[in-house]
Amino acid sequence: MVDKILTVCPYCGSGCNLNLIVEEGKVVGAEPANGRTNEGTLCLKGHYGWDFLNDPKILTARLRQPMIRKEGELREASWEEAIRYTADRLLAIKEKYGPDAIMGTGSARGPGNEANYVMQKFMRAAVGTNNIDHCARVCHGPSVAGLSYSLGDGAMSNSIPEIEDADLLLIFGYNAPVTHPIVAGRIVKAKQKGATIIVCDPRKTESARLADTWLPLKGGTNMALVNAFGHVLIEEQLYDKDFVAKHVEGLSEYIENVRSYTPENAEGITGVKAADIRKAMRQYAGSKKAMILYGMGVCQFSQAVDVVKGLASIALLTGNFGRPSVGIGPVRGQNNVQGSCDMGALPNVYPGYQPVTDAKARAKFEKAWGVKLPDKTGYHLTEIPHLVLKEDKVKAYYIFGEDPVQSDPNAAEVRETLDKMEFVVVQDIFMNKTALHADVILPATSWGEHDGVYSSADRGFQRIRKAVEPPKGTKPDWQIICEVATAMGYPMSYKSTEEIWDEMRGLCPKFAGASYKKMEEQGSVQWPCLTEDHPGTPYLYEGNRFSTPNGKGRLFACEWRAPLEQPDRDYPLTLSTVREVGHYSVRTMTGNCRALSQLSDEPGFIQISPEDARQYGIEDGHLLKVISRRGKITARAQVSERVKAGATYMTYHFWIGACNELTVDVLDPISKTPEFKYCAIRLERIHDQ
Ligand code: SF4
Repeated sequence: MVDKILTVCPYCGSGCNLNLIVEEGKVVGAEPANGRTNEGTLCLKGHYGWDFLNDPKILTARLRQPMIRKEGELREASWEEAIRYTADRLLAIKEKYGPDAIMGTGSARGPGNEANYVMQKFMRAAVGTNNIDHCARVCHGPSVAGLSYSLGDGAMSNSIPEIEDADLLLIFGYNAPVTHPIVAGRIVKAKQKGATIIVCDPRKTESARLADTWLPLKGGTNMALVNAFGHVLIEEQLYDKDFVAKHVEGLSEYIENVRSYTPENAEGITGVKAADIRKAMRQYAGSKKAMILYGMGVCQFSQAVDVVKGLASIALLTGNFGRPSVGIGPVRGQNNVQGSCDMGALPNVYPGYQPVTDAKARAKFEKAWGVKLPDKTGYHLTEIPHLVLKEDKVKAYYIFGEDPVQSDPNAAEVRETLDKMEFVVVQDIFMNKTALHADVILPATSWGEHDGVYSSADRGFQRIRKAVEPPKGTKPDWQIICEVATAMGYPMSYKSTEEIWDEMRGLCPKFAGASYKKMEEQGSVQWPCLTEDHPGTPYLYEGNRFSTPNGKGRLFACEWRAPLEQPDRDYPLTLSTVREVGHYSVRTMTGNCRALSQLSDEPGFIQISPEDARQYGIEDGHLLKVISRRGKITARAQVSERVKAGATYMTYHFWIGACNELTVDVLDPISKTPEFKYCAIRLERIHDQ
């Protein structure tokens, strides 16, 4: 008997719909479904990325039994024992050091929105802290902070399907063909329909190859280029004066701040020709429907929030809001990173982006959850190493569906942090590098084995559905968290994910009308969705009213700052982390899919320019030692003309040659997002290969 179960792809934020094909209780294939964003198409991860459900044990094995560390060894335990032990240890740490000594994560991956809602409720109501964060901190944290400041909502103002009808796409630090192939399809369609494509990227990426104009800026000079964009719009009177007068504030300060960033001065910093900067802005301002799309090339720098605000300012100056196919799109990376933010797995907001510092919002959640809630913002995930190693403030870490040893910068420091903590809980589906440091491991059900909701990158709530029975010994994430909360003396229990969802939307005006029923009927419901009879909102800011306190967009520019760790004699090259199309994130899922794991092999590659290859005597395929001030790894050389001399690139998917052994833990001062895109390294050939 063959069943087809409609669900949403578990990889990127494109939110593609697919049918899982199930034969005799086992997933045997996937086929595209007609979702709002994918319209019957899938990329290779959508087609072949389901196989980890069959636990082929290629990279690592599925977790099937709780484990507790005893006498230094992880040993199997019963669920009862593991829940009791976890609750007792957390209670003891809370009693001894206070609730702020405990940190928790949400998960942007398979668990879904309901489990994230339950996790942040657990941390806030059962533990009593706002120390809840998740991997948005290492990716689009700057988008949430920057766009909230500039526009009011920290999300895509536009929709993925609108991309193909834009007249101009300004693509900044974003390589959609690799990160979001189905979004890339929309970009190609836009080009086929006549759109102008401008790409800002140091590397000649697949996106840059599609571009009419490629602006190959030097790594780490984003703010200088964005300021120069603003300078041209002002100096050449290309901005929409009427729109700015009515709907935008901060013009005079903005003019002052971009005054010195003439295209000629910017050329000296960025390496982009002044004439190309002027041409790009004349085209952008001259288009009726201009849209900005950006990605990690904006967000993973220590000046990321400033650049996000600067890009939003370009769109504000030209009146590119409040209509279809305009606006600004931070295209969220993981399948449910938007959802984890929506559900309040962040240290400063409850679900629905309601600030924890707002007394009215806090009173509402206190009433609903029946407890007194903390009123100060919690810790950010990337601050934890410092808070543990230098300040000795955090003693316990409940890590849910994340692998910080593989995904966070300066892996050696992350390992040291985990080992110094008194208690580490890892709740996941596969054994991973972080779980090696756990005191308790709680095995969860996977995507495909439970129900729920994901949020696509363009604010679209969509149902995920159970297709197969989970392995014996695993439990849904939300159920595990409820059991720990109950054992800690704060009873939490739900009969279904829909019951959790309904509690959540009852507390979140932005999401109030997005019921399961509406998702079943429409397929996708984009927030804001205020009432039961509201269909949802494809693009934000209709009527040019922004979600800021006074309804106006805010302009922003400031001085450019160079990245912190510059190359020198000992470490003469720069390293930036990037992505590869066939793998995803820390690879626990794609690395355990037979088809995908054959596409590329450990160790990962390092892209270098032909000039540097010549200088160091390196040929394509050579095994290299890659060394930074923090660590040393092995990688295979990929000599590429797409790379500028002096710069190198590695994907962060691979376990051997994990580039986060090398990356620097410098953070953006506002969003606390690491500078994954810039650190200094040197290369050494491994001669006896
Ligand atoms: Fe899945 Fe993203 Fe590929 Fe769509 S584009 S199939 S969501 S990985």
